[in-house]
Amino acid sequence: MKSRVWTTIDFNARGAQADFARVPYSSDTSAYGWIPVPMFCFNGGDGPTALLTAGTHGDEYEGQVALRRLVHDLRKGRVRGRVIILPALNQPAVAAGRRNSPLDGGNLNRLFPGDAAGGPTSMIAHYVASELFPMADVVIDLHSGGSSLDHVAMALARPGRDEKQAEDIRRLLKSFGAPYSAMTAGEGGGANTTLFAAAEEQGIPALTAELGSGSTLSKAGLAIAEGGVRRVLRDYGIVPEIDALEAGETKLVRLLGLLESIYAPCGGLFEPLAAPGDVVECGRPAGFIHGLDAVNEPVELTFPAAGIVTFRRFPTLCSVGDALFGLMAEPDQ
Ligand SMILES: [Zn+2]
Repeated sequence: MKSRVWTTIDFNARGAQADFARVPYSSDTSAYGWIPVPMFCFNGGDGPTALLTAGTHGDEYEGQVALRRLVHDLRKGRVRGRVIILPALNQPAVAAGRRNSPLDGGNLNRLFPGDAAGGPTSMIAHYVASELFPMADVVIDLHSGGSSLDHVAMALARPGRDEKQAEDIRRLLKSFGAPYSAMTAGEGGGANTTLFAAAEEQGIPALTAELGSGSTLSKAGLAIAEGGVRRVLRDYGIVPEIDALEAGETKLVRLLGLLESIYAPCGGLFEPLAAPGDVVECGRPAGFIHGLDAVNEPVELTFPAAGIVTFRRFPTLCSVGDALFGLMAEPDQ
């Protein structure tokens, strides 16, 4: 089934255009209406196409602001190839300041490749995968820790399906230049249902980035997002003249698995003893959980492996199964 999402943008026309990906949504108050997902297209007519997205999770802000600033800058011209930007991809979630859509509960980064006949969140995923990916030569989807995680600034990419794609992805990670870069086969997180995994499935070099913590705007994360996207646009020859600071060295890491992560074994108040970026030994104390109505001692948590702390839970209150810590390690460790 073809996507029912529509737009007034003509992606083949030269120049700057702004409209919406118009996602049909029939509600009590608007029988024939659509959800306005902001979309921008800058077409210089000669060169590859970058697809840049943020707001895939509504409560993650560095990428949303970085892409809105980029839109402002690209209006001055200078685009040689084509740049398609959707800075608030799950617009209902962005408007609500929530990770997931208040309309259908949909987590956009768990619904790829989407469904043309599904709920609004699934329709957005399907539009991206079926209409936008085929135009793209490179895809970047910007995330952060959001409300529930405190995350190191890092880029993540799938390893690629062949040596050519693997080489393209290494080049993309280097160009983006986040402090850490990880190749992930997707055993944790969203596995094959994420935007960047769906792009890789179509053979497009793609990365995602985690840029901050909590539902606020990290200045450092914003700088990484802005610098990273601009360097990629420059290095791919899409906007060759764009201002971009040179990247620092990116440290290649691998994410450790589910069994090396720490999940809350009980509910209560989480007292962390380590922060993202800390280097920890196996068996090192990681924190405590103080039971809300417990008269017993707090539950002590220890790291099940050595590594670098990738994220920790941001809110103090926790329930059984909440992710408290994740680890990454040097590629050869
Ligand atoms: Zn996210």
